[in-house]
Amino acid sequence: MSETIEFQAEARQLLQLMIHSIYSDKDVFLRELISNGSDALDKLRMESYRDKDLGVDTSDLHIELRTDAENRTFTISDNGIGMSRDDVVSLIGTIAKSGTAETLAKLREAQGSGEEVSEETRAELIGQFGIGFYSSFMVADKVEMTTRRAGTESGVHWESTGEGTYELAEVPDAPQGTSITVHLKAEDAEDSLHDYADPTVVKRIVKRYSDFITWPILLNPGAPEAVEGAEEDDSEDEETQDSSLEPINSRKALWARPRSEVSDEEYAEFYRHVSHDWQEPLETMRFTGEGTFEYQALLFLPAHAPMDLYMRDAKRGVQLYVKRVFVMEDCEALVPEYLRFVKGVVDAQDLSLNVSREILQQDRQIQLIRKRLVKRVLQTITSMRSEDAEKYTTFWSECGRAVKEGLLTDQENTQAILEASTFASTHDPEKLTTLAEYVERMPEGQESIYYVTGESRASVENSPHIEAFRAKGYEVLLLTDQVDEVWVGMVPAFGSGDDAKPFASISQGDVDLGDDAEKPEGYEDLLTWMTTTLADDVSEVRLSTRLTTSPACLVGEVGGIPPQLEQMMRSMGQ
Ligand code: ADP
Ligand code: MG
Repeated sequence: MSETIEFQAEARQLLQLMIHSIYSDKDVFLRELISNGSDALDKLRMESYRDKDLGVDTSDLHIELRTDAENRTFTISDNGIGMSRDDVVSLIGTIAKSGTAETLAKLREAQGSGEEVSEETRAELIGQFGIGFYSSFMVADKVEMTTRRAGTESGVHWESTGEGTYELAEVPDAPQGTSITVHLKAEDAEDSLHDYADPTVVKRIVKRYSDFITWPILLNPGAPEAVEGAEEDDSEDEETQDSSLEPINSRKALWARPRSEVSDEEYAEFYRHVSHDWQEPLETMRFTGEGTFEYQALLFLPAHAPMDLYMRDAKRGVQLYVKRVFVMEDCEALVPEYLRFVKGVVDAQDLSLNVSREILQQDRQIQLIRKRLVKRVLQTITSMRSEDAEKYTTFWSECGRAVKEGLLTDQENTQAILEASTFASTHDPEKLTTLAEYVERMPEGQESIYYVTGESRASVENSPHIEAFRAKGYEVLLLTDQVDEVWVGMVPAFGSGDDAKPFASISQGDVDLGDDAEKPEGYEDLLTWMTTTLADDVSEVRLSTRLTTSPACLVGEVGGIPPQLEQMMRSMGQ
């Protein structure tokens, strides 16, 4: 009753990437499988809160790891939520992440151009996808999985060599949860540090990558330490394995441990778990709230924009825990949309475990945490700029556009967002500027922060409007993100009180460059621009009262009118 199904095209491509990658750190497959097991246990517990009739025993939720040196397998089992047949087909057989198509197009391009896909490209793609479950194919010839969804009768067996298709079969008596057996590649047996059929290897890796997982991770014990004179008794060892699984992770919540005791690497691994990112976090933030409403927060900024950051259905929010117990993934109530790249955990002391998303939106204390979180994140971005400019530049080029969205939605923090932001400007062709730096450079007499918006730096930089400002020694911000068009119309000024500097567009006629005050208002912009643009042909363009119906005329001894000018004047005449 087994059937063969093809992987979706995208999934097939990713699997190929994985199988043929010489990704240096194969150990991470273990981290990915444990992370999935932990997620599955979290989900089961949440589900059991929501659905009192689920009828599942949640008193002994854990992850089991078993090594089998003889058969060269590694097995990981969890008694978590499990998957239905449809789940398996859609979650394991396809890649549903938004942004997949775009990213894979890059790969196809590289392949289409006939060149060998470089290992960097592979690593970059893998890094972007965070190819969780598929990473098992880095170490496996074949992967088998048996799973049964909590609350359903029958389970399913899945099996694949990763080469295009997988086999599915029904398993009537499967235990609830998921069990994955990795048939290890023969070649890794020779590498004693990466032989995943060796429990000491597995234990070391779990300690390194997954120690903080709050569920128990149990492992069969290793062969007795190679003490001198110790005799070999393999057979007995194997018999006792089942009954003597030992817990190997310390299960301590990172955010509850003293800061000085947590290493950067531990933070990085925890970040990978909560974000499903493969890379290290750019910045780690920890803070606590005390008094009537106690909470702890451990938050991260990513080193690259999540693939879905600029898509409509982007995920957002941090994990919510209540007294060390996982309550909710992607808690939106804690994070405004414009900070949707922030990942991490908030652990609150005084919430109910089965609190709903709707209730959270209204909860005053959640709102207070959110306020604090926003301030802290903006502060961190701002100080990152002065403390580590390179880091900031990375961050800003990846997530800056999202941050600026806050200028449309978060009035309360407008100034903090402006302070955290940097902009391209005519001052420096390479470097972005802060608004404070801009203001610092403003010459005597300049009252506004001038800007121009447009599609690209090249197009706005060549805008004739800018020339006049250059000539005046006025710097102009070059705003080329879509969001810029909108916020400049909403945010009146940078700074507050007497020091507030209004924003002024150079291409809208309301800019006063401070020329002759007696002339009719509203034309200075145009005149200055025309003068500069026509500098080779005319010495001055000025307003005239002599003309009635003609829009313009040439005065004095000037040569012929250039055709462009003629055309332009015609198009301007009413
Ligand atoms: P990610 O964890 O980033 O979503 P993975 O490739 O690691 O991506 O897993 C894909 C999906 O398969 C998971 O989101 C989950 O829904 C499902 N899954 C994987 N492993 C398990 C498991 N042990 N139990 C239940 N579901 C699982
Ligand atoms: Mg995963």
